[in-house]
Amino acid sequence: MPEVTAEGLERWLRRFADVVHDHAAELTELDSAIGDADHGSNMDRGMRAVVGALDGGAAGAPDALLKKTGMTLVSTVGGASGPLYGTFFLRVAGGLVGGQAVDAATLGRALRAGLEGVVARGRAEPGDKTMVDALAPALDAYDAAVAGGAGIADALSAAADAAEEGCAATIPLVARKGRASYLGPRSAGHQDPGATSTALLLRSAADSLP
Ligand code: ADP
Ligand code: MG
Ligand code: MG
Repeated sequence: MPEVTAEGLERWLRRFADVVHDHAAELTELDSAIGDADHGSNMDRGMRAVVGALDGGAAGAPDALLKKTGMTLVSTVGGASGPLYGTFFLRVAGGLVGGQAVDAATLGRALRAGLEGVVARGRAEPGDKTMVDALAPALDAYDAAVAGGAGIADALSAAADAAEEGCAATIPLVARKGRASYLGPRSAGHQDPGATSTALLLRSAADSLP
């Protein structure tokens, strides 16, 4: 079975940076409806800084690469998404310590540690209209696929599908966390920007890993 290496993770991060850049206007448009119109620029700035850090040095081990990514996001992205995405990558890194070639089950456990970090930090539950509504179903789909014998590529493909469904399912929800929650019922009828970028994160993974 193919495994994920630091080179694969670097492909994922570069791909996500490209995709975020291409979707920056759309992410900001979504955030203008229920937030402060900066999610696209926040994520684009953060991922450009991550690519800058990647360009500045060799990948190193998987955990070191993702730790650098998380720290870069925390330090370059203001707003909710910087600490949340930063925590995600830092916690995924923690799940990969010591490994050079990561198998499907280990990757799944590391990604779930990332989700738990996001929840510990932001206190969002499923249904609160946040990035958790894309990430949580994605990891459930990933685990189910791996339990059924799938490799990393197929499990990530299932995860990306579930993230996109979870993202679309945020449209009717009333936000209970983040800036969108200030709008109360008026937040319904709009897709959550952070769930949208998270769906892009999972699709980027499926397109570039293992
Ligand atoms: P800000 O809201 O500070 O301007 P961004 O616009 O970059 O930050 O990110 C907004 C996104 O962050 C939201 O769409 C939502 O998905 C996510 N978010 C906000 N608060 C939380 C939270 N407490 N837990 C999880 N995700 C959150
Ligand atoms: Mg915003
Ligand atoms: Mg903001």
